[in-house]
Amino acid sequence: MGCRDSRPPAFPPYVYLLFLALRGIHGSARYCAGELRDQAVWDEIRKGVAHHLGRDEARRLPETGPSRHQWQYAQSTLFIPQLGELAETFADLALAQALRQGLLPPEARRSWSSPQRHQLIAGDGTVAKSPTLSTVPYSVDSNGVRRRHRVDPASSWQKEGGGKRDEEHENGSAAHRDKATDTEAKDPRDGKDSDDTMVLGSKFVVFSTRHRGYFRRVFLRYSHVPHDQEGGEAAVALKLACAILDAAEGCLGVLYDGAFRGMHRDVIARRGKLLINKQHKGAKPRYLRTLDYGRCRHELWANKGRAHERVFLDTGTTTLLPLPILKLQRRASPHTHRWYHVLAVPCPRGAHEHREPVGITTAPGEREDGQSDIETGFHRAEHLLQIPDATGTHQALYGGREDTEAGFSQLDRSLWNRQMIAFGADAQSLVILGFLLAQNATSAARFQEDPTYSDAGAEAAEDGTRPPKN
Ligand SMILES: [Zn+2]
Repeated sequence: MGCRDSRPPAFPPYVYLLFLALRGIHGSARYCAGELRDQAVWDEIRKGVAHHLGRDEARRLPETGPSRHQWQYAQSTLFIPQLGELAETFADLALAQALRQGLLPPEARRSWSSPQRHQLIAGDGTVAKSPTLSTVPYSVDSNGVRRRHRVDPASSWQKEGGGKRDEEHENGSAAHRDKATDTEAKDPRDGKDSDDTMVLGSKFVVFSTRHRGYFRRVFLRYSHVPHDQEGGEAAVALKLACAILDAAEGCLGVLYDGAFRGMHRDVIARRGKLLINKQHKGAKPRYLRTLDYGRCRHELWANKGRAHERVFLDTGTTTLLPLPILKLQRRASPHTHRWYHVLAVPCPRGAHEHREPVGITTAPGEREDGQSDIETGFHRAEHLLQIPDATGTHQALYGGREDTEAGFSQLDRSLWNRQMIAFGADAQSLVILGFLLAQNATSAARFQEDPTYSDAGAEAAEDGTRPPKN
């Protein structure tokens, strides 16, 4: 090929992946191209290539890094046609990295009632702000001039942090969110509840796992949530979570926000894993059963995610008292798992022990005729949680979910003007991937520096997580 010199220099695909990860730090392709064209930076990269892939490979690289134009060409011809494969390969390598860093350890001791944070995955949805506020391709201004606007096809008006409002947040971030709601929510362009902050943008879900300590998170999977997605964010998130649970034997469960409900808990619990989130706030107390021991009876209700006893007061009224949970039991059967709370039922005649199924809504055929939850009309997975809100374990672990939001705030900061820097779901998925690659690389470097997690105790100060109560 005689005209080789007139062609742009050829870069192997991994150089563009490097470019992508770098963009996850700088937030702009222009800036990355500038940096990679810096001789000192490029020499450093060639040194790294020589170290990992050999000197011959490093010698084959062009004298200077790719231009922005070359990047854009690679993005549209190399990456976007293979987005699915990229995401799957990322997921495989990310899980391998997590295992290498001692996360989701397959051999570790398992305590289902108090799992360690690094035995769980945490997920969250975020809305990346649209690169433009335009939602129509043309407008006419006051002078009658027709203007053309670029519209992001992936963006729509979305509730910021959908589902979180169902929860009782007591911390500062909730107060902040509520404040933002007061001033920004009244956008006339949306027909949704005005007490939610509406953001024009494109929604993504990511899952990660982490040890305690600084920059210890490893992101595991990500997905765009199309605005017409059936089942919304939760459906996409459930699919991601199950893919990780199926691949990571050492993963004991999932932390997610109020977007996950009983139907999602049912799927995860049947897989033999935990879902740790908050009980849906709108859930009303439900009658459960009456325990009849002959000389005494106890009326059980489901309330706030756990079994309560209805107790009669001197005043003639009744109140619901939470029953102490002695044990969380997990039972495997050939095709599914079952979960139970062993409850202590206080009684003047001596306490009783009662075993109540939790976490799963049984279907006809799974219990004796007429006794399944669907037949009795009790959505058990919605009303009885494996690890209820008001327990020390829940409170200690739920911080593990809130700090995925901190991970996302880093994403916001990595983008220029805190706005998405690409149009359309495909190019935006690459922005997310670049961000996650950069984050995972940081986490890998931290692990190399300090593989013993000696910084674990200092974490509370970093992310503002409150120490667990009781
Ligand atoms: Zn009794």
